[in-house]
Amino acid sequence: MRILVTGGAGYVGSVSVERLLNAGHAVWVLDDTSTGHAQAVPTEARFSRATYADEDPVTRLLVDNSIEAILHCAARSLVGESIRDPAVYYRSNVVGGVALLEAARRAGVERFVFSSTAAVYGVPAVTPITESTPLDPINPYGETKRTFEGALRWYGAAYGLRSIALRYFNVAGASERYGEDHDPETHLIPNILGAVESGRPMTLFGDDYPTPDGTPIRDYIHVEDLADAHLLALQAAGEPIQPGAEPALRLNLGTGLGFSVRQVLSSAETVIGGAVPHTTGPRRVGDPPVLVASAERAREVLGWTPRRGSLAEMIGSAWRWRQAHPGGYGEP
Ligand code: UDP
Repeated sequence: MRILVTGGAGYVGSVSVERLLNAGHAVWVLDDTSTGHAQAVPTEARFSRATYADEDPVTRLLVDNSIEAILHCAARSLVGESIRDPAVYYRSNVVGGVALLEAARRAGVERFVFSSTAAVYGVPAVTPITESTPLDPINPYGETKRTFEGALRWYGAAYGLRSIALRYFNVAGASERYGEDHDPETHLIPNILGAVESGRPMTLFGDDYPTPDGTPIRDYIHVEDLADAHLLALQAAGEPIQPGAEPALRLNLGTGLGFSVRQVLSSAETVIGGAVPHTTGPRRVGDPPVLVASAERAREVLGWTPRRGSLAEMIGSAWRWRQAHPGGYGEP
């Protein structure tokens, strides 16, 4: 298959591009490197350093290269930033996203896989979260992802676009070549590893949640398992739509297992073989106590099974990648 990956220079995008190439697909990467890294794009992929939000050039790229499918990983994805500056999120994730959809429509690309997020659910009343759990995002990031999922649905109904939105839970770990290098870094596991490297304590955001050890529980999924799901979703989005069937699917990607912040911390100490310097601070605004996926639907629809579900594998791979890449990808 000839596949365009937006955001292919980012954390999830780079590992997914690697997976698609290994499966024998031809890959084009579109990334403006505003948050990604050119060094994270495998050399076997054709790389355009540009935005996905420019309809005319993207249409040309799709037509000139006979692209058959799009994996749309690019987005603004920081919750706090989205609350401070929602305009940026609506412009990139919604307006830019629709420009990409229009380019796809003009170029006749009918397969679309979208990086969505558990943030579309907000603070769900039930756990585990199934795809029919009501959507109620509590920040502009989740809201813009929900809005784009809606666009996919109506593009499917009206124009025949076959799409799958993958609602990621907490992505973690690294492949041998590609890992997580964000600035600023907000995620738990890289912050733990950063504290070990620097000796500066990381902050544990709250230990008074209604959970067994008082810290929030999350469903962590290895980035390489996520990449496997992308490959399977791109294949599944090629199946003809049965009459009356929903052209736009939404699937949770998690393992169905929940781990608390303290469990992650103690697993990291075991993997690293030393203490993680940390302090306990107040809760971070907008953090739900428990987010755990029901991953059944992705198993049924895609035949996907997470194979690297242990915290030790996720933390261990992230740790190895960081040790091999001190300073990350080394860009300013
Ligand atoms: N967390 C923390 N300290 C950090 C980063 C995260 O205690 O430096 C906690 C956070 O409050 C949440 C969990 O770790 O309960 C996972 O946070 P992360 O930002 O990795 O992912 P999120 O679940 O917010 O998408």
